[in-house]
Amino acid sequence: MALIVQKYGGTSVASPERIQAVAERVIRTRKAGDQVVVVLSAMSGETDRLLALAHRVSPKPDERELDLLLSTGERVTIALLAMALRERGYAARSFTGRQVGIVTDDVHTRARIERVAADRVRDALAEDVIPVVAGFQGINEKSDVTTLGRGGSDTTAVALAAALKADRCDIYTDVDGVYTTDPNIVPTASRLDKISYEEMLEMASLGAKVLQTRSVEFAMKYLVPVRVLSSFTDAPTGTLVTKEDRDMEQVVVSGVTYDRNQAKITLLGVPDRPGIAARLFGGIAKEDIIVDMIIQNISQEGLTDISFTVPRADAKKAVSLVSTLVREIGANDVQLTEDIAKVSIVGVGMRSHSGVAATMFETLAREGINIMMISTSEIKISCVVDAKYTELAVRALHEAFELGTPA
Ligand code: ASP
Ligand code: MG
Repeated sequence: MALIVQKYGGTSVASPERIQAVAERVIRTRKAGDQVVVVLSAMSGETDRLLALAHRVSPKPDERELDLLLSTGERVTIALLAMALRERGYAARSFTGRQVGIVTDDVHTRARIERVAADRVRDALAEDVIPVVAGFQGINEKSDVTTLGRGGSDTTAVALAAALKADRCDIYTDVDGVYTTDPNIVPTASRLDKISYEEMLEMASLGAKVLQTRSVEFAMKYLVPVRVLSSFTDAPTGTLVTKEDRDMEQVVVSGVTYDRNQAKITLLGVPDRPGIAARLFGGIAKEDIIVDMIIQNISQEGLTDISFTVPRADAKKAVSLVSTLVREIGANDVQLTEDIAKVSIVGVGMRSHSGVAATMFETLAREGINIMMISTSEIKISCVVDAKYTELAVRALHEAFELGTPA
């Protein structure tokens, strides 16, 4: 008998009918002899609706109150699923984040889980009751409700699986796994049977939205095998996110991702002396703006250029911060470029294969795409290009690394 945590996302619980279908699937798993713990998202669109509601009464809603409001979406679905299961003759019990003892830090609207007690979940399992747990929520030390950031139910599910030492965490969504790239851009994109935690972490943080990045970090840390599956089919396929193995190294590139939510800021004519970068990025960090890529050029006559990227939503704020600094340090100018995209290739095979970067650059060159910035890690190469070339770049790279299924 295995213990499986099943998490169902918003589209999987979007209506009473979909909730009935989830109940059926939970029961099928039970009948197959496994124990199930269910974690649910709110109905799709509900969290957005609640957010919009908050903004109707306050342009900048208090975050403690916002968390309490947002946490209601998941209360609705857990109660409904527990009712649906009981209707079918199965004992089930819904639990909020507080009842499960999901304790987080104090950062409202994007709290991080610090520990998971899960006593009531264990008790329910011992009584043969199916626990149905609200995703996305926890409580801080003061026992105020917190939420884990958008898509946070994934993290609840994986953290709970880790705490319970579950055999697997199955994430049910509306796509049947992780693809080599966005199938909306490349119709021949293929589903990966398995992918390593590290690759998934890169893909998730690069904008492939199947799993919340934090959930992958948890899975990697506690070695929880995670499966991404569709709740809209009965096919038992999907993508297994797991420890790296030999087969994975054979594949040079596993996926191509893109991110259109970045903007590039360039400082021109910056005096090249100690402490300038520290002041620049220290000031930006203080405002909680996340800097992604940074490039500094070699200096000429004591002046250099520095370019970096930030989330597009924070670009204006970053520019105004930087503008003040420009005056203080006597740099020449600040430029903002919003129409950029970051296109990346990811694969653990890059560690043992050479020439991957060259292939990427040649491929982009052949399409006449100019590269504005480059950054690399051991298993990833990212290029910033003009946003209008996003699709072209993704398609060309997907083909160059032979990721498609034959049409
Ligand atoms: N309902 C929350 C959201 O929309 C959490 C989740 O679905 O994972 O972000
Ligand atoms: Mg999600």
